[in-house]
Amino acid sequence: MTGSAPRNDRLVLVGGTIHDPATGRDGVAADIWIEAGRIVAPPADPAGFVRVDAGGLVVMPGGVDLHSHVAGPKVAAGRRIAPQLARGRRGDTPAAIPTIHATGALYAALGYTTVFDAAIAPAAAAIAHRELAELPILDKGIYLLAADRADVLAAAGKADAAELRRLVAATIQASRGWAVKVANPGGPAFWKRGRRGDHHDLDTPLPGESLTPRILLERLAEAVTDLGLPHPLHVHTANLGLPGNWRTLHETMTSLAGRRAHLAHVQFHSYSGGDLDEDSFGSGVAPLAECFNRCDDLTADVGQVLFGGTVAMTGDSAAAEHLAHATGVPLVSHDGHLEGGCGILPIAYKEKNLIHAWQWAIGLEWFLSVTDPWRLCLSTDHPNGAHFTAYPHLMRLLGDAAFRREALARIHPRVRSRSPLSSIDREYSLQELCIVSRAAPARIAGLPRKGQLGVGADADIVCYRPDRDLAAMFAMPAKVFKAGVLVAEDGQLRATPAGQTLTAQPASPAA
Ligand SMILES: [Zn+2]
Repeated sequence: MTGSAPRNDRLVLVGGTIHDPATGRDGVAADIWIEAGRIVAPPADPAGFVRVDAGGLVVMPGGVDLHSHVAGPKVAAGRRIAPQLARGRRGDTPAAIPTIHATGALYAALGYTTVFDAAIAPAAAAIAHRELAELPILDKGIYLLAADRADVLAAAGKADAAELRRLVAATIQASRGWAVKVANPGGPAFWKRGRRGDHHDLDTPLPGESLTPRILLERLAEAVTDLGLPHPLHVHTANLGLPGNWRTLHETMTSLAGRRAHLAHVQFHSYSGGDLDEDSFGSGVAPLAECFNRCDDLTADVGQVLFGGTVAMTGDSAAAEHLAHATGVPLVSHDGHLEGGCGILPIAYKEKNLIHAWQWAIGLEWFLSVTDPWRLCLSTDHPNGAHFTAYPHLMRLLGDAAFRREALARIHPRVRSRSPLSSIDREYSLQELCIVSRAAPARIAGLPRKGQLGVGADADIVCYRPDRDLAAMFAMPAKVFKAGVLVAEDGQLRATPAGQTLTAQPASPAA
């Protein structure tokens, strides 16, 4: 027999059923050839490749979580204030704030191979990078809260964009970021002047400035695009969590339309109603989804709430204070090294709680109302809406209308009767689940070699056992490969290679 001897960095996955939306493969039989961590074309001489039997398995690219919170001081504070959730009591599933090592292990065993922390203050970037270096297996990156600093706000107030571009580029380089996040545009400036948790609209000037949140959003989005960063401006708009805030998100969308931007955790920004009237609280998704479906340049992640205990953490201190006031739970307010802030508090979402039931229904309504899954990402804003290990449960809610109806029957009766969810029968196909959990987030995050299984892609590959119970199917992949290395099998870790830190290189900021 001729040919080279098998090498353990050369594999072929044989006989799997491929779901790879980026290359148009929707449940077709194909073999996948892997060499040196990448997917390669079928070789002329296959003799050196180790065969891995994927017969009967569903094969997808590795999961990509483009909005999570896994590192930095806020996550550490979450572990301190809710140690019972950090350890995971018997019967609890699973720890809300796992250790950094457990975070990587749990994500990998779930079939996820890339994660971004969506809110790191530049001054906390060094410690976040040190922690992420300890997060095994996954590739990872951080979004920098680059819009809280006084010099950035001052530059954003000038019509000449050169200074803003220069500051954003310098922040990305110095703090080794992947993207720019704005959390409540201008919010820290209001917060520092004692404007706590009250509404401000996009046209309220920042204290002592002519700059408004709207102008800040528009100029930041343009600066990020001009700098050629892989991911557009990551926008957590104003008034998170407040009744009636759907109008703010709607204004944000219309203001940013025509520019590239990503809208974070839209569920938390889609509420109707007024402050003093809990009865009027409800869903504002219909007009928002209608607007979103028309705005081709905008993308979003949902920030789904699922029932159970977790820890909320947000760089939007005003929102955290509002939540602490509403729930009576003490708040840890972390100053974010004087640039911004961060509020952290435990929360338990309950089926029979009117507001929590609305949040659950509103997130699902978003998923089921967006027509183009390529512009939508599956997220729970881990750990804010739910733990990332609840993603398989969420996938079943999306892909199994009967399962969703059973869940709907258990929630607060007023939400059950008023939410449009009860009249939506749409079910996500496997291909659509694949899009929102990997293909779309990879494309939106700006990772051309991820979220797909074409030649040249990173060999981040997951093999699932098909199961009518989609939660069971997605909770325990049969095999997970990261850069061609078998890292997990049936929920057991097989290897813990170090992942890469993804950092962006801004284009020259010169005009
Ligand atoms: Zn978040």
